[in-house]
Amino acid sequence: MTRKNYDGDKAMNGFEEDWKEYKRARNMFFLIFVLYLPVCFGIGFASTKLFHTFTPGFVAAFLWMAMLLVSGMRVHLWRCPNCGEWFSGTWWYNLGFLARRCVHCGLPKLLQQSSFIQCRPLRAKLLIQIS
Ligand SMILES: [Zn+2]
Repeated sequence: MTRKNYDGDKAMNGFEEDWKEYKRARNMFFLIFVLYLPVCFGIGFASTKLFHTFTPGFVAAFLWMAMLLVSGMRVHLWRCPNCGEWFSGTWWYNLGFLARRCVHCGLPKLLQQSSFIQCRPLRAKLLIQIS
């Protein structure tokens, strides 16, 4: 995945496509998580009845865990459409899908660009007052 241009086209078009991509990744993660036990035990049960071995169930479980890992990393390392940093964390912590706003720039989750422009000057003002 290449890093996008976060200043130019994004400011004009909003973040609608980015949030759709995020929702797709998040929903895929939940779907894989929920279907783990039914699919793996279903395959194991069927293979036990047909072939008298549970080995295909273990293979399915291993592959399903790999899919869960990949989809989880896709959600946890998803980049903020505003600043381009990881939306939900830094190198030492990650809130994952529980992050309600970008931990770097404060962009609220699922908010469009036009609403966030109004918030930025206030945030910049607060940062100046603190430092
Ligand atoms: Zn951000």
